[in-house]
Amino acid sequence: MIPYGRQCLSEQDIEAVESVLRSDFLTQGDMVPAFERALCDYTGAGHAVAVSSATAALHLACLVLGVGAGDRVWTSPNTFVASANCALYCGAQVEFVDIDPATGNMSVASLHRQLEVARAACRLPKVVIPVHFAGQSCDMAGIAALGREYGFRVIEDASHALGAENGNVMVGNCRYSDIAVFSFHPVKMITTGEGGALMTNQGELADEARLLRSHGISRQAETFEQLPAEPWCYEQHALGFNYRMNDLEAALGVSQMRQLDQFVSRRRALAGRYRALLEFESGVSMLEGAVEQSSWHLFVVSVPRRDLIFRQMRASGIGVNVHYIPVYRQPYHMPEQPIGDRFAGMESYYSSALTLPLYPELSEEQQDQVVNALTQSLRETGT
Ligand SMILES: *Cc1c(COP(=O)(O)O)cnc(C)c1O
Repeated sequence: MIPYGRQCLSEQDIEAVESVLRSDFLTQGDMVPAFERALCDYTGAGHAVAVSSATAALHLACLVLGVGAGDRVWTSPNTFVASANCALYCGAQVEFVDIDPATGNMSVASLHRQLEVARAACRLPKVVIPVHFAGQSCDMAGIAALGREYGFRVIEDASHALGAENGNVMVGNCRYSDIAVFSFHPVKMITTGEGGALMTNQGELADEARLLRSHGISRQAETFEQLPAEPWCYEQHALGFNYRMNDLEAALGVSQMRQLDQFVSRRRALAGRYRALLEFESGVSMLEGAVEQSSWHLFVVSVPRRDLIFRQMRASGIGVNVHYIPVYRQPYHMPEQPIGDRFAGMESYYSSALTLPLYPELSEEQQDQVVNALTQSLRETGT
C-alpha cells in the first residue's frame, strides 16, 4: 500500500536521537530549547514553546488566552477533532464557521456574516481558530481585521503548515494572530514522533504556556511568593499539566528542521506534478492556491462518486484518505440545532474530497501509479 503520508528519516536523524540516549538527560536537557530556537529562527516568531503534541499546544493556547466556561470558540469544521476539543477542555462552547470549498479553508465571508449575527445575539466568540488546511494559509489579514472589529483573539492551527508562506510571511510567525500551533506527528511536515509547539510574539503568553506545560511549577526564585529562595525550592502557581516534550523528541526535531526546506520543495515539486498530470482529466478538480506558497501537507482532489473511487483505489493498493469528516458530524460535536444549509461549503467539499498520497519520499513512479489508478477508476465508474 502506498500510504497517503509518512515520515522521512535520515541517518543523521537516527544519530541525533542516539546521542541523546547516550547522554545524561533524556528530558529537560538542552535539546528542547535548541528545538525552540530552530522554530523561532525558521518562522521569525519571537517565542516557541515545545510540547508533547499539537493537541496539548491548542489546549495551552486556549488557556493562556483566558478561554473558560461561558466563552465561545469558533473553528473550521474541515479539521481534525483536536481543533475543536481544545475549547471543550477549557469548559467553553465550540461553534463552526463554513469553509470555502475552493480552498478547504475557513471562509472569511462566512465568518463575517456569522459575526454580524452573533453580535446582535450577544454570542460573539472569544477566540477564532482558523486551520491552514492542507498547508495553505487562510486569509490571515482578513481574519485579523475581523478580530480587531469584533474583539476576538486568533489561534492559527498550523498543524499542516510548517514551511508554508502567506504572501512573504512565514506561517507560524504570528504577524496576524496571537498564537500559532504546529504538530510534529509523523505524517506532518517534520516529526518528533509525537510533538507540537506553540508560537507567539507575546512574551507573557509564552511564559504562561511554559508554566502550564510543566505542572504550573516555577523554579525561578525571583518569582516565588511564599517559599524561600533555597536551591531545592520550587513553587506551584497554577494547575498545570505534564505536556513537556522530551530531549529524544527535540533532538529529532532539531535534525528534522535542517531538512525542512528540502521536504517542502520536494512536496511542492510533487504537487506541481500532480496538477500537471490531472489538469485535463475530466471530472477531477483540485484545490486553488499557489504551488510555491503551500507546504503541501496534503494533496486533495475533488471527484464524482468519491466513495466508489475511494474503495477502488484502496483495493488497488493506493492509500487514499478523506480529510476531513466535518467535525460537527461527530456524535460528540453534533450541534443542537439541525445543520440545515449552514455548512453548504463544507458539505459540498466533503462529498467529493479525496486525499492522494504525498510525502517527500514518494517517487515519480509511485505518483504515476496513483494517477493511473485514479484515471482508471474514473473510467470504470463512468465519469
Ligand atoms: C494533526 C493535527 C492536530 C493534532 O496534532 P497532534 O500533534 O497529533 O496532537 C490538530 N489539528 C490539525 C489540523 C491536525 O492536522
